[in-house]
Amino acid sequence: MTIQEKPPLKVLLCSPRGFCAGVVRAIESVERALALYGPPVYVRHEIVHNRYVVDALRAKGAIFVEELGEIPDTRAPVIFSAHGVARSVPAEAERRGLFALDATCPLVTKVHREAEIHFRRGREIVLIGHAGHPEVIGTLGQLPPQAITLIESVADAEAFVPRDAGNLAYVTQTTLSVQDTDEIVAVLKRRFPAIAGPNKDDICYATTNRQEAVRRVAPRVDAMIVVGSPQSSNSQRLTEVARRAGCPHAELVQRADDIDWDAFAGVATLGISAGASAPEVLVEEIIDAFAQRYNVRVETVSAVTEDMFFPLPRALRETQAAG
Ligand code: SF4
Repeated sequence: MTIQEKPPLKVLLCSPRGFCAGVVRAIESVERALALYGPPVYVRHEIVHNRYVVDALRAKGAIFVEELGEIPDTRAPVIFSAHGVARSVPAEAERRGLFALDATCPLVTKVHREAEIHFRRGREIVLIGHAGHPEVIGTLGQLPPQAITLIESVADAEAFVPRDAGNLAYVTQTTLSVQDTDEIVAVLKRRFPAIAGPNKDDICYATTNRQEAVRRVAPRVDAMIVVGSPQSSNSQRLTEVARRAGCPHAELVQRADDIDWDAFAGVATLGISAGASAPEVLVEEIIDAFAQRYNVRVETVSAVTEDMFFPLPRALRETQAAG
């Protein structure tokens, strides 16, 4: 097939997309620990939810585990993932004398501190988030059991029965849908006008900005690909935002090999974004795969310019400076 014979495809590339400052910091923490201490470096949970990233770090000597119990007694570094951990995890690491490095995103740590402050002020706390997500497990685990009630939906917010309606606070997961969260917060504020909380929610800048870019592009395209992992909360939310903003077909895709080409037959305009844990090389791989079948013209649609940066965990920074 010559270039002339390929059907035209206009690609609207969402910006910002892909890696956020918390993900960059987490990945660099593992890479720096490998460079400083040599392999193996243990990582509790996928450092970020992306198979490509995890496989690349594994090839360099990182060993991924789900629980500290899987790690032998060792002097090798043990890194906690960007999603954060319950307090019991660093406590266990300390008890075992493990060399722990915390790559929890500072914006997740901020939510942990908010919950702690509400608790110290004697407030009953509501966490808006998705059950079972590691970030939610980590936030719930900052405080004793029963201190925080998880609310996942508007229906949960309507049904919630607090111990003392006048003494409530809420915090949220960082990677939620801005719109869904607004609706849940509105119900809580209507039912409990005195509820304390952040200005709006704890959704991070990266999640907010990626959703805004998708919202702008979605009504202009026939289909949307979000590059990301099914385990990635913020990536899943981007596909939902795309559908809700009027895109008839929005799909989460991990690699070019996963594309169901039949599903994209007849598409003339395609939107592409990527979750905060998806590397740009995978976006390029997917654009290249389309370019083999279509005469692709790429246009970037920019919602916000980002310049967020988080320094590495202190232990890695100090060692770096000393070295
Ligand atoms: S998505 Fe947000 S909270 Fe999660 S690592 Fe990135 S900046 Fe931090």
